[in-house]
Amino acid sequence: MAKRDYYEILGVKKNASKDDLKKAYRKLAMQYHPDRNPDDKSAEDKFKEAAEAYEVLSDDQKKAKYDRFGHSGLKGGQDFHGFSDANDIFSHFSDIFGGAFGGGGSSIFDDFFGGSSQRRGRSKTQGVPGSDLKVTLKLTLEEIASGTTKKIKLKKYTTCQTCSGSGAKDKDSFKTCSVCSGTGEVRQVSRSLFGQFVNIQPCNNCSGSGKIISSPCTTCRGEGREYNETMIKINVPSGVNDNSYMTMRGEGNAGKNGGQNGDVIVIFQELPHEIFVRDGDNIVSDLYISYPEAVLGCEIEIPTLNGKAKLKIDPGTQHGKFLKMREKGIQHLNRHGAGDQLVKVNIHVPKKVTSKEKDLLKELEKLPNIKVPD
Ligand SMILES: [Zn+2]
Ligand SMILES: [Zn+2]
Repeated sequence: MAKRDYYEILGVKKNASKDDLKKAYRKLAMQYHPDRNPDDKSAEDKFKEAAEAYEVLSDDQKKAKYDRFGHSGLKGGQDFHGFSDANDIFSHFSDIFGGAFGGGGSSIFDDFFGGSSQRRGRSKTQGVPGSDLKVTLKLTLEEIASGTTKKIKLKKYTTCQTCSGSGAKDKDSFKTCSVCSGTGEVRQVSRSLFGQFVNIQPCNNCSGSGKIISSPCTTCRGEGREYNETMIKINVPSGVNDNSYMTMRGEGNAGKNGGQNGDVIVIFQELPHEIFVRDGDNIVSDLYISYPEAVLGCEIEIPTLNGKAKLKIDPGTQHGKFLKMREKGIQHLNRHGAGDQLVKVNIHVPKKVTSKEKDLLKELEKLPNIKVPD
């Protein structure tokens, strides 16, 4: 099915302002919301179509691509969020629909029209959460093959030891927040065409805790955290891929005033190997043998990710053949077993020979099994 023009979907001109786009989208979203149009597939399609159009046109980069190249300029997955349902759309554009709707309750739309004052989803947390930290970890193929443990130094916020993160000198160093009267929340009531709409936000003055510190901790000056260098231990499982990542929950920056810790996101980077090339969990290597070795067979010691190992070459082994060394590759991620080492057999052809060697080769050439058959 051909896609409709995004401007046409939203019913706006190409030079529409961000505000106009937002208004147009909001109107359509309310008109076609599935909760208002139960069992109406075409309304649902229109609802999703509008969300997609708005997602693109409200983003300067995506809009520029779309204006130049049309639909073909945008890539699915990269340029689209790919909404699963209405609640997903609402939480994605929560700035338009009001922050109180982010929670993914069963019928967000009821709240929207009914003016319910219930705050859903978000649990009441104290303080300001700490941010995540990204760490890039370079790994050799050997380390990836069997997994490893790395210790790295990291500068981050850690919970203040003196006040255990509260930021206060002692337990009597608090007073009730005057902005929210200790509730930790601030309500804003607005009226619209659809009824009363209550937006409840955490109180900025006390970061939602309802309390203000009257005499701050002297170590952290009331922040509840300190910035210093720490050592973290990263257990790298075997078989991780280049550019994949792992999240270490709660290992990031400590929050302010007792807020939750952020995470450490470890991004793995695979260093190129001198001898081996990775192919999934298999590794591939080259082996050079002489012509007589190929014809007569031999046993050769070859490097593996785990030291040297013997490999038997059968008589008559052909150039270019891959020999498999079972489970000498990379141990699988999260399951038993390992990939194989695939050894490509190459026949060494000398570039220089002595006159004696030349004579012998000429002699050899005449023999019936040495000649290339017709
Ligand atoms: Zn407050
Ligand atoms: Zn402190």
